[in-house]
Formats: sequence, C-alpha cells, structure tokens
Amino acid sequence: MRIGYGWDSHEFKSGVPLRIGGVEIDHPKGLGGHSDGDVLLHAITDALLGAIAAPDIGTLFSPSDARWKGADSALFLEEALHRVNSAGYAIANVDSTLILAQPKIGSHAAAIRERLAGLLNIPANCIGIKAKTPEGMGTDNAAIAHATVLLEKTKATPSRRSTSKTSRSQSKSRH
Ligand SMILES: [Zn+2]
Repeated sequence: MRIGYGWDSHEFKSGVPLRIGGVEIDHPKGLGGHSDGDVLLHAITDALLGAIAAPDIGTLFSPSDARWKGADSALFLEEALHRVNSAGYAIANVDSTLILAQPKIGSHAAAIRERLAGLLNIPANCIGIKAKTPEGMGTDNAAIAHATVLLEKTKATPSRRSTSKTSRSQSKSRH
C-alpha cells in the first residue's frame, strides 16, 4: 500500500467562476491561478503523485507553461491517476478537508463527491469531503485544501532478483 498527501491554496478573485472539486459553484468570486484554480483537485492530484513519488503538480504542469493557462484541472487529476495506474496501484480511498470562509460547501458536498467519483473511477463512499471555516487564521480571502489518498497494489511487481531476463520484461513505457 501507499499513502499520499497534498495541500493547496488559492486566493479569491473577482471575475472568474468558482470551481471546487470539478464542480462550478455559484459565488461572486472564483479562485485565481494559472489554471482554473480548483484548489481541491490540485490537492488530490498532488496526493496521488506523492503516493507514487512522482514529480508534483507544479513540476508536471508548470504555471509558466502557456498550455495550462485556464486549463481544466480535471486534466491534471487524470494524468495523476494514469501514473498511479501505470505504477500498478488503484485508489482505495480519498479524504479531504477544505478550509474557506465562503461559500458554505455543505450543500455542494454531494455533487463534489459524485464528480470526484467519476473522475477517480471509485465509489462516492470512498471519498471524504469535509469543510471548515478558517477560525483565527486570517485567511478569509483564500481557499485551502488538504487531501490524503490510500493506494493499493493491483499487480505484482517484477522481482528485482529474478535471473530470467527476457527482453519483454525489461522495458516498460512510461508516460
Ligand atoms: Zn492550485
């Protein structure tokens, strides 16, 4: 098994839609950032990448790369999931905490879980979404997300001590 942890924060900004967990939420302000600013998807993406010791989201999808300007963060999550699966792991469960003063997430939590279940290809009852307000933190103009993931091995890793070397088993394409 592997465990992964991710953290992210974005500042609220006028004139952009608010997207959290792949769901658009009606609110006067959205989250600024090079991509769509989806703080929860970014935290889960980093948790998945961290669990398999892959490069982090900022390394794979550099904010200085014009390709990712305004990008749908679901693309980042899909790439992280692809890497997890390619490494021979499947997601057991995801837990997350959002910390933001506004808007209240409670009424959107079910939609976010459903969306994440679709993106991650796991049941919604394997996805935890908790939301808290930032009491005493002075971060009322930011949205913060923490995420942890547990991965389970899906296939046997070739033994490093194996003496039977076939050309077929030597190379594995990496994305
Ligand atoms: Zn981010």
